[in-house]
Amino acid sequence: MNPISPFFLVQLQILLPPASYSLESSVLEGYSHDESSQKAVMPLAVVWPENAGQIAAVLKLCNEQRIPVTARGGGSSLEGNAVPSPGGIVLSLEKMNTVLEILPEDFQVRLQPGVIYDDLNRQLARFGLFFAPGPSSGDVATIGGMVGNNAGGMNALRYGVTRDHVLRLQVALADGALLWFGTRAMKSSSGFDLVRLMVGSEGMLGIVTEIVLRLHGLPERRTALAHFPTLETAAQAVFEVMRSGILPGALELMDAVSIQHLNIFKKWSWPETPTLLFEFHGAPRGIAEELEITRQLCQEIGATTFREAASPAEREQLWAGRKEITRAEQDIFAGHIFFKGDIAVPLSQYVPTIQKAQNLAEEHGLSISAFGHAGDGNLHTTIPALPGDAEACIRAEKLMDDLIRFALSVGGTASGEHGIGLAKRKYLSEEHGAAVEVMRRIKQVLDPNGILNPGKMFLE
Ligand SMILES: Cc1cc2nc3c(=O)[nH]c(=O)nc-3n(C[C@H](O)[C@H](O)[C@H](O)COP(=O)(O)OP(=O)(O)OC[C@H]3O[C@@H](n4cnc5c(N)ncnc54)[C@H](O)[C@@H]3O)c2cc1C
Repeated sequence: MNPISPFFLVQLQILLPPASYSLESSVLEGYSHDESSQKAVMPLAVVWPENAGQIAAVLKLCNEQRIPVTARGGGSSLEGNAVPSPGGIVLSLEKMNTVLEILPEDFQVRLQPGVIYDDLNRQLARFGLFFAPGPSSGDVATIGGMVGNNAGGMNALRYGVTRDHVLRLQVALADGALLWFGTRAMKSSSGFDLVRLMVGSEGMLGIVTEIVLRLHGLPERRTALAHFPTLETAAQAVFEVMRSGILPGALELMDAVSIQHLNIFKKWSWPETPTLLFEFHGAPRGIAEELEITRQLCQEIGATTFREAASPAEREQLWAGRKEITRAEQDIFAGHIFFKGDIAVPLSQYVPTIQKAQNLAEEHGLSISAFGHAGDGNLHTTIPALPGDAEACIRAEKLMDDLIRFALSVGGTASGEHGIGLAKRKYLSEEHGAAVEVMRRIKQVLDPNGILNPGKMFLE
């Protein structure tokens, strides 16, 4: 029997239109997990509000009744950020998926939080604009969820992560107050920056009900792939290209193991050595020149091949390599569970971190692949292990732990773009020290009864 109180249920019925909530166990089951390997938690109910007023009213009720609320967009989080808090409800933003106003002359868009990233960019393309970060999960990730996790992606090097694009937010606080943070000005030095505070707060400080984003003009693109004999030469190419004043639209690294996986999955025969994918964004003549400078630099540094995409189809093929690494791993290691990393380190530490990962894998007798956003020091790693092999799973966890601690020791972060959620809680204090107490106090001020996504980010 669902333990939801009859009083709470009656109040929900008063606040929300029919069919805006469910207690059906088959429905609840679908909302009990995100894309992480964290344990599922059945919520008491799922609610689908249709406007900011309904969200504020539900929060007020939950605050009075001390019922936890976990906001949910696409549920694609990888660290347990969107797993329901025990004894709570899920507040899904799926029905609030309207692009409210495109302001081309201001390079801005005003939208509801449930809009999906790829859908937004399809609508913006008609105006020659785009919202840049470029998460690989763009077909499911909502803008509200990207705000919740401060999501990044392939284009963050040139344009910044979600936080760099959010100008203004409407937020429902835990007590049901509905407030606007920020303005539509491109810059401001007025007061504390509550917009940046909200971005990356994983639904723990308030629920975002409307968003104004900053946009960029859709650029011309040129794409090239370069293979290098060693990680060091690939890293040198990253450094030299960026030092030459070129800021690529994307600069991705795939290690030799990732390329091996791609070759098996796609039946390709790419050289199985460290590989960089460059994309140049801008006006046609400018990016042609950037590509030529990059070709020369890569060749001087010792690239074994440098291949430019000559057609849109070839560009898609080069990108397919980077985008399909995860699918390749899932196919090759079917039945395995995957231990995934998302650390970010200062650029000078990128290669030492990959080497550390490889040494740890050898020490622990595990296979590891490494790839990521080489231009901004964000490294993703994958370790497959069979669920029945408890010992291998323990070793994989230990490896991940050692690698995160290594990243922290060289000035990096436990999470480049996926957030803390449940999985990375133990690293928050190690990374931020006494500053975690300031975070806790901010949480206490905005959510004194602790109803907003409790249990995430902080170890109790
Ligand atoms: C295959 C795959 C690839 C991925 N690639 C990337 C990548 O390239 N870059 C990257 O950054 N991430 C990536 N991710 C992680 C994930 O997709 C992103 O973090 C994404 O932004 C989450 O969006 P979502 O709508 O699914 O949010 P959810 O998972 O539903 O929620 C994310 C967090 O935000 C909170 N939240 C949701 N909506 C709101 C709201 N309206 N107000 C306040 N809080 C809210 C939730 O409570 C939760 O804490 C990937 C995930 C997968 C499965």
